[in-house]
Amino acid sequence: MYDLIIKNGKIIDGTGSPYYRSDIAVKDGKIARIGRELGETSRVIDAAGLVVTPGFIDSHSHADTALLTHPELIEKAEQGITTSVAGQCGSSVAPNQDGYTTMGALLEDKKDLALGSNVVMLVGHSSLRKMAMGRENRAPTEAELETMKALLRDALEHGAAGMSFGLYYSPGNYAQLPELIALAKVVAEYHGVIAAHIRDEGDRVVESVEEFITVLREAGVRGVISHHKSSQPKNWGKTAKTLALIDAANEEGIDVYCDVYPYPASGTSLVAFLVPTQYRAYPDKEIIALLENKEKREEICAITRKIFGDDLHAVMITSCTACPQYEGKRISEIAEEQGKSHYDAAMDVLIETELTCSAAFFSMSEEDIERVMAHPRAMLCTDSGVARHLTTYHPRLRGAFPRVLGRYVRERKVTTLPEMIRKMTAMPAAVYELKNKGLLVEGFDADICIFDEDTIIDRADFVDCTKRAEGLSYVILNGQIVAENAVYTGAKPGGFLLRNR
Ligand SMILES: [Zn+2]
Repeated sequence: MYDLIIKNGKIIDGTGSPYYRSDIAVKDGKIARIGRELGETSRVIDAAGLVVTPGFIDSHSHADTALLTHPELIEKAEQGITTSVAGQCGSSVAPNQDGYTTMGALLEDKKDLALGSNVVMLVGHSSLRKMAMGRENRAPTEAELETMKALLRDALEHGAAGMSFGLYYSPGNYAQLPELIALAKVVAEYHGVIAAHIRDEGDRVVESVEEFITVLREAGVRGVISHHKSSQPKNWGKTAKTLALIDAANEEGIDVYCDVYPYPASGTSLVAFLVPTQYRAYPDKEIIALLENKEKREEICAITRKIFGDDLHAVMITSCTACPQYEGKRISEIAEEQGKSHYDAAMDVLIETELTCSAAFFSMSEEDIERVMAHPRAMLCTDSGVARHLTTYHPRLRGAFPRVLGRYVRERKVTTLPEMIRKMTAMPAAVYELKNKGLLVEGFDADICIFDEDTIIDRADFVDCTKRAEGLSYVILNGQIVAENAVYTGAKPGGFLLRNR
């Protein structure tokens, strides 16, 4: 007696092969058999007219930040994600001075934690560095480097899949090549992987990709360029160059991949976009006082202008409970309505909302997104945590994977559906060495998505990211239904996926 049989679906198995029609029987969380006339079962899903694929693997996720408080990971299940690769951009929930001081301690203590989506952990390089030497802007001493290596080894011994760099953020950006290579060599010993938020995704994106490839070459380790993009109009088109670098590295024998999210805008708080880093550590009241002071405001705007230029049309106010009239508006529109310069309008919005509003920065071109997405070594990602933990929102939180299938496969025809499914399933399973994941074959874990390829689409947008996807009928994790019509069921059949365990 099987637990579940999925009947009459078009099976896209994750290998990139075209679909075939068959039935899938699930028992004890595994794909027990694929074929016809499979026998008795407790439950049937009729998938006639629907596509059946492996559950999606989010190659770049911040799910770990909310893991201990929000283990349901609702927004993952509701967009078809059955496994998230977390601990990204140099920052992982452990090690942390105020929490678990080693990744091992976290993974030992929480090894049985029930999750709504499986989680793979990377250990963040910035997290290691903060433990070893605080926020010092210098090279580590030999002893400090040894401390980082020991913490890294601890994480890898306890099942972390590798390490992440956040070379854009402090203190990760203080690290130079020798430190990065020394740590990458430890990851290589364990045959792990390194994911990198590279040093610069704008003017120096090409040099930054080169730097990361140098680390991989010197250490003999494989790597993933995170949320790959080329930011700012003057840099649009540079992904042709960076993807050629990835190809050349692979020819040379270095395994390099990248991942990408399907939106032309990044998202954070408006204050993080417009107020330079050196001021953002101040309490909110002091920042507001600075913005109210004419001279100080001009100083701040002068620094920001160097990054954005005079025109803030690319910045849109997203969620803004303090002043909902601004939601969905570009800074340029608000400036025109109020008869102010773009910068004065933006700074006044910050004061009026007491720094609480979020913003999207439309800095990427669709052409770059599609070029990266179509690359044979590109995987897909959300670059997102979960809603009940975040203070700023971006539609990728809930819509990224359905958007790839609806907009970029069906409408834009960036690549074929079986190839895109491969990028969402078998490829990340191979890159992160996830056992029994990413394919619909007998004996593998029953992580399965069932959707309508003609209707699947995201509905979340920059103003309201609570809107659920359409066309996503079922999401199944370890044989249990975790989402039905993109609504989370409350089941938590997932857990940590630890390597070599
Ligand atoms: Zn990042």
